Amino acid sequence: TIKNIFDQTVQKFPIKEAIYDVRRNIRYTYIQWNDQVNRLAAALQAEGVRKGDRVSTYLYNNEELATAFFACAKIGAIFNPINFRLMPEEVAFILNDAAPKVVLFERELEAVVAAIEKRFPETGFWYIDDDVPGYAKGYRQKLACVSSQPAEVEVHEDDVYAIMYTSGTTGRPKGVIHLHKDMVKHAAILSEALHYERSDIGLITAPMFHCAELHCCFLPRVQVGAMNVILHQFNPKKVMELVESEGITKLFAAPTMWNMIIQENLAEYKFQSLKLGLYGAAPMAPSLVYACQEKLGIQFIQAYGMTEMGPAITLLMEDDQIRKAGSAGKPCPEHEIIIVRPNDDGPSEPEEVLEPGQTGEILVKGPCIMQGYFRKDAETEKALYKGWYHSGDIGYLDEDGYLWVKDRVDDMIISGGENVYPREVEDTLHGHPQVFDCAVLGQPNEKWGETVTAFIVAKGSGLTELDLENWCKESDALANYKRPRRYIFCEELPRNASGKIQKFLLRKQLENIANDKGL
Ligand code: AMP
Ligand code: MG
Repeated sequence: TIKNIFDQTVQKFPIKEAIYDVRRNIRYTYIQWNDQVNRLAAALQAEGVRKGDRVSTYLYNNEELATAFFACAKIGAIFNPINFRLMPEEVAFILNDAAPKVVLFERELEAVVAAIEKRFPETGFWYIDDDVPGYAKGYRQKLACVSSQPAEVEVHEDDVYAIMYTSGTTGRPKGVIHLHKDMVKHAAILSEALHYERSDIGLITAPMFHCAELHCCFLPRVQVGAMNVILHQFNPKKVMELVESEGITKLFAAPTMWNMIIQENLAEYKFQSLKLGLYGAAPMAPSLVYACQEKLGIQFIQAYGMTEMGPAITLLMEDDQIRKAGSAGKPCPEHEIIIVRPNDDGPSEPEEVLEPGQTGEILVKGPCIMQGYFRKDAETEKALYKGWYHSGDIGYLDEDGYLWVKDRVDDMIISGGENVYPREVEDTLHGHPQVFDCAVLGQPNEKWGETVTAFIVAKGSGLTELDLENWCKESDALANYKRPRRYIFCEELPRNASGKIQKFLLRKQLENIANDKGL
């Protein structure tokens, strides 16, 4: 169980530095952190939280979130981290669904909580700072009032450990259920693959409510007794300052974050301690990976996956970054991947396996895959149809068994009957030295069904449509029908907290432009 992971590390390395919360300037060794975890666990019990009850966090990255993670694990409560970017109705949706006993929330997010709190009279809202009128019984006071030990609870590896709501780039978020044993296994696989060691100092800067940071970095590092430095929100300058001052050795960042990091004036920082960068959660153009390798002089590993998968299902290791550039790598140990013929009228059939090189839906199986969606039996049955998790991503396996992810099924563009995967076009555009960011999607078109449209965020000024057209032609990588017919220059792209472009917002924007012009 996750409880055992924590207890073992505390026992083995009591006086090793465990966490450093940068904004609050809190540093704990493992034994000090354990005391905090025990106090929160006891305080939750005092509030009536029993095994199987949900505890939600609506927090930036901080010590309290890290502490809640293990406090829940100790008392068999179900941990439910909520995206801090969500607006009142979105948070209310999750609280309705998860029905937590307690919600820990942040000072800056008070307005959101105030707007919806009254609708949840059964739920305790705990302000993590105490010095705010109206919240006299905040988190810190509650922790001060309890004994430093929670009542003993038997936690089993088959118990539910967390409900994580997926980012919901399509439709309403669904609560993904993971058991203790799924995540213990996932942590073991990742510790091994990412060579985590006790001496590692990891920087947490991607959101901790998302499984990439939480399950690929935070938990495996605790498992080996390494240290986690916690930055409350991503900021490229702050990241580089901390890499230097704390001697950070390993760093996960989503592709956009890496892109922002290398735009910094790196000559101002010392970053010899940094050995390994991890990227994933969204596609990263090979040209950006090379630029990061060159500018930072470090090795990279890519993880591909989804909340439903634990999240990592494939890894592209250091030595394959050039040889297999653009691929998502090979399946994690004990996991299987098949590519099957997509089915328009329901879940695709696992028997319809395609040959290497043929593109279809990615289906996966293994010990870290979710148990299902919380209170959504029909969706669970569809997603786990015939024992395979149906990812909704399309891609293929090559002759060597490497996975190549092309796109979300829903994002594919069909132009003149030909399939265009936006990611191919985005990768090519990203290669242009003056393109900072880009997104490609289909624009409805009477003649072609859809035509390819690109949103471009340029570096500096002077980049023109013609430059990009020539770039795409000269790349020799895009057939005529894949080349954008239209370029829209903009200041920035809408992205969700884990770095994924919110294409539905861009689609709306395209509709509005079309309506304005009476097209
Ligand atoms: P989430 O459940 O929020 O983690 O989102 C999962 C989605 O992120 C997947 O369906 C993929 O489309 C995308 N994704 C995650 N990792 C990668 C990666 N390494 N390369 C490309 N897409 C990725
Ligand atoms: Mg998802």
